[in-house]
Amino acid sequence: MKQIIVGNWKMNGLSADADALVDGLAAQLAALSPRADVVVCPPFTQLARLAPKLKQAGIKLGAQDCHKDKSGAHTGDISAPMLVDLGVEYVILGHSERRAEHHELDETVREKTVAAMAAGLTPIVCVGENDDQRSAGDSQATVGWQIEGSLPQGFRGIVAYEPIWAIGTGQAASQQDIADMAAFIRAELVRQFGDAGKTMQILYGGSVNERNVTDILPVEHVDGALVGNASLKADAFVPLVRAARAS
Ligand code: PEP
Repeated sequence: MKQIIVGNWKMNGLSADADALVDGLAAQLAALSPRADVVVCPPFTQLARLAPKLKQAGIKLGAQDCHKDKSGAHTGDISAPMLVDLGVEYVILGHSERRAEHHELDETVREKTVAAMAAGLTPIVCVGENDDQRSAGDSQATVGWQIEGSLPQGFRGIVAYEPIWAIGTGQAASQQDIADMAAFIRAELVRQFGDAGKTMQILYGGSVNERNVTDILPVEHVDGALVGNASLKADAFVPLVRAARAS
């Protein structure tokens, strides 16, 4: 199956930087055919501006969050239908930074996932253990609970395994740790969702870069990568797309 490389720009990108980055991606990716699927998730403020350019380059547009409700008195929030209205197709939900900084619980993530699916978005739901949970040998138990709590009945979307200790640290999980966790997640998805769980895409995220990507992407049950830092420069991101399975 084709792999998918998702860039999470986080809270980065004023108009000039965002334009330059997308222009660079478009130019370099044009030479890659066939290629893996590519999604970029800029901050909300850049979605409308970048949508036409990205569409022209065959790059899918994603957002970094959405509200659980369609509309209403939620100052500062953005709903899933608002994202669809701009041409957004994917949304990252339950990222560990949102779980930590905005106190999002599994239940919050599940409600947002329901809203995203109802609007026609593909949710990319993030799970992953922190350093303490890992040291205590609780990585799989933590991720198991997160999957059970964050994914609603009838879930159709992508699961991103992002060990918190690996995010933004330059230290990705080892190939063996990724293989063990991806196999565990696959088994959990099949247990919860039956046959549909066999083909749900599982991504790895956490300090993926040009040097380690060739160890990570071939791992069984890994269907792509969620990328933070290395998604902010075309020269760092395009090699990840090049390393991904194109068919
Ligand atoms: C992320 O936060 O989703 C992420 C994977 O970040 P980084 O690649 O910078 O570790």
